[in-house]
Order: sequence, then C-alpha cells, then structure tokens
Amino acid sequence: MGNHFTQLKQRLGEVSDLDHATAVLSWDQETYMPEGSVAPRSEQLATLSKLSHAMFTAPATLRQLKAAAEETDTQKNAKNLAIVTVSRADYARARKLPADFVAEVSRTSSQAQHAWMDARKKSEFKLFAPWLRKNIELARRRADYLGYTDHPYDALLDQYEPGMKTSDVHRIFEELRVKTVPLIQQVAARSERVGDACIHQAFDKAAQERFGRHVAEVIGYDFKRGRVDYTTHPFCTTFGIDDVRITTRVDENFLNPYLFGVMHEVGHALYEQGIDHSYERTPLASGTSLGLHESQSRLWENLVGRSREFWQFMWPSLVTHFPQLAEAGVEDFYEAINKVEASLIRVEADELTYNMHIMVRFEMEVAMIEGNLKVKDIPEVWNQKYNDYLGIAPPNDALGCLQDTHWAGVGIGYFSTYSLGNIISAQLLESAERAMPTLRDDFLHGRFGPLLTWLRRNVHQHGRRFKPQELVKRVTGSTIDPTAYIAYLTTKYSELYELDHA
Ligand SMILES: [Zn+2]
Repeated sequence: MGNHFTQLKQRLGEVSDLDHATAVLSWDQETYMPEGSVAPRSEQLATLSKLSHAMFTAPATLRQLKAAAEETDTQKNAKNLAIVTVSRADYARARKLPADFVAEVSRTSSQAQHAWMDARKKSEFKLFAPWLRKNIELARRRADYLGYTDHPYDALLDQYEPGMKTSDVHRIFEELRVKTVPLIQQVAARSERVGDACIHQAFDKAAQERFGRHVAEVIGYDFKRGRVDYTTHPFCTTFGIDDVRITTRVDENFLNPYLFGVMHEVGHALYEQGIDHSYERTPLASGTSLGLHESQSRLWENLVGRSREFWQFMWPSLVTHFPQLAEAGVEDFYEAINKVEASLIRVEADELTYNMHIMVRFEMEVAMIEGNLKVKDIPEVWNQKYNDYLGIAPPNDALGCLQDTHWAGVGIGYFSTYSLGNIISAQLLESAERAMPTLRDDFLHGRFGPLLTWLRRNVHQHGRRFKPQELVKRVTGSTIDPTAYIAYLTTKYSELYELDHA
C-alpha cells in the first residue's frame, strides 16, 4: 500500500471516528440520556459535527485525495480505488456546505427533536410548528448549497438516494399507485376474510424480548457486535462494522411492534455488519443509499418475516414463548400478521397500504420545499390526504402529522426511500430465488444462511462502492423498477383474500 493512500486512510479514519462518536451521543440521547441534558448534548453534537466537517473539508484532505488518486490509479486495486473515488465525491459535496451551516443544522435538529417529542406527547402540532418552519428553511438552504438543475427537492433526495430524481419517484410511485389501489379496494371489500384477534392479546414483555432475540439470532444478527434497546421511534445505528445497534418498542397487548420492529432493524443491521472490513473507518463503511438499506430491512421483515414458510418453521418456538397462540394455529397466525387494514400509523401499517403513507409524506414534502404548503396548514392537509388515500382521518396530531421523527431531524427528502426499499427488496429476492431455486424450502427448514450469504456477496460487502442504481442493475439486471414488487403484492394478497383474478 502506498504512502499517500495510507495517509489518506489515516485522515478518513479520524473523520469516521468523530462521526461514530456523534452516533454514540445521538444513540444515548434517544435511549438513556436524562431529559435535563438536552442543551449541553446539542452543543456536544454540534461541536463534533463541526470538527468532523472541518477535518474532512480541510485543504490537506484535497491534497491527500489527489495524491492517493494518482497512486491508486497505477495499482489496480479496485477497493482502494473505490475508497478514493467515493471520498472525492463526498469531499466535493461536503465543500458545498459551510461549516457554520452544518453546525446550525446539528444544533437545530437536536433541539427540534426535543420539541417534537414534547409536541407529540401533548398532541399539539403548534408546539412543533416553529421548529418545522426552521427545518424547512434549512432544507431549502441546503438544496441551494448543494445545487440542482430541475427541482430543489432533487438535491435533498440525492443525499439519501444518490442519482434519483423527484420526477423518477413521481413516475415509480404513479405506477405503484395505479396497480395497488384497486388491490387495496378489492381486499377492503373482503376484509372479513382475515382476522387478527390472535396477535391482539396480552404478551409478556420479557417473553417478547426473549423471542425477539431468538428470531434475530436465527436470521443472522451477531449480538457480539450489537445490542437491542428501547426508543420511541425504532432505528439502527452504526459505531463501526463491529458495533451495529438496534432499538425497538414494545406493546404488551400487541405482538407486532416488538417482533417485526426487531426483524426490520435487524435487516438494516445485517447490511452494516456485513460490510467488507477493509472499508472500516472509511466513507464506504455504510449502506449505499437509504433505499438499498430499506430493501434489506423490508426483505427480512416482510418478504421473509411475513412469509408462510418462515412461520411454519418458527411455529413451535413461537408457541413455546406464547402458549396463548396455540389455539389459533399457524395458518390463522400467518393471516393475522398479514391482515390489510387502512390505519393511521405508518410504522404499524401492513405491506399493502404502507406505500400510501409514504406517498402522503412525499407529496407534502415536495410541496413544502416548493413553498406551496404552509406549515400552519400541515395538520389539515395531512388529514385530508389520509382521507383521500386511505379513507380514514386522524383524530389528533399525535396519530397524524406528529407521528414521525423525520421532520424534526432535518430529514426532508428521506421518506420516499422507504417505498423504494420495498420495491428493491422484491427485485433482490426475485434474483436470489432465480439463483437458488430451493430458497423457499430453505426457509421452511429454518435455513436462512444461504439467503444471507447471497446478500452478503451481492449487496452487503460492497458498502458504498457502487451507487444504488448501479448495484441494483449488477445484481438484478434491471434498474429500480416496481414490477417485481407489484407482482409479489398481487400474488400474496389475491391468495390471502381469495380474490378472483389471482
Ligand atoms: Zn428501516
């Protein structure tokens, strides 16, 4: 390894250390930090992000990047070349954001997060509105700094889904909407076909924790390099390839939040735990986009975790942990966890209606950035859209526009990646099944290793080496396209609800 590349890696490593320290403080803020510590913690986070930004965007970094680029060019080491290429692109992007702006974003986001939690608890949007106004202003400034040609929202989207345009998302969502809305309506007309009483009963918290841990281990989460804690809003966070943590929440009268929350976050964690160690402490040691990341969580939570084969295998263990389910039987349980019902809370929505929740948020965000939606009108517009798309209206702000943390954390541009993830998950599983025709049978026998190995080889190990569209194309032969996902939904729900056209 050459001298220049070693020097560059040293600097990238120090930047990465600062970012991981930030992640530890953020994780602590969400899990264990006492309420009174908000103000000093905001300052700590702002200081660390300012230091990281200053170190990464320093002129010395540019000199090291150029020198390392010349060196790696002659070495033909694809991984080192990727480290330099991705770092150079990150550098160019980071240079567009002034250090003061980055610190302001960090400080505001930390305080807005606190205001959001309070507003959500009291179900009063008014308490959060000033912070959202501030965050939208910051998002617009960010779009201006980053630059765009067609639409300011493109610049925000590109941070989470590199290469994706607002118009692409509109087109993909339109295709998905046209195909799934009739399916939702047909299912709604036969809603009595599927009941879900068995998953709405008392479930001991300790038993949920034990079973959740068991499921996480069965699908491959490495607890020696991770742990599970509780937060209001579940997430996965990385302090390094060998420390990838998840959080979840528990409802002692409903099985889904803990169980599927864990499977979802474990899906994210498997991606991060599976990255090639030679990318540790470099910008490549992360998922390549939020859409790709979400494809991993959705794949394990839904395509595997809500499949009949998975529960045929897990059934004896499930009943051992929760004897109250024995009476229902595996088929009733399978139906219960797949029941479709228009509901208010995105994170608890079924697979079929989930994407409607995303479309509401995506459309509203684009309108906010365009200036066509005023903050004070958000609760009303939100409720109207829920009525239009799902036929239901939230009774209060906590169950409506205050339910998600994203607008508190300056995460404008993020939401569409959830549905893109659903779409990519189906494309990936279709390819995996083509490569391994016995995959369904493996699930039936509790063998999840072959799928994980396939994902590790094709997706996880690469980290950010390939851009999302490029990676999807390499693995599936197609760009991001909703066809496989629409086919998956149609087949599954036609069978479950005994629809004619199945
Ligand atoms: Zn997720």
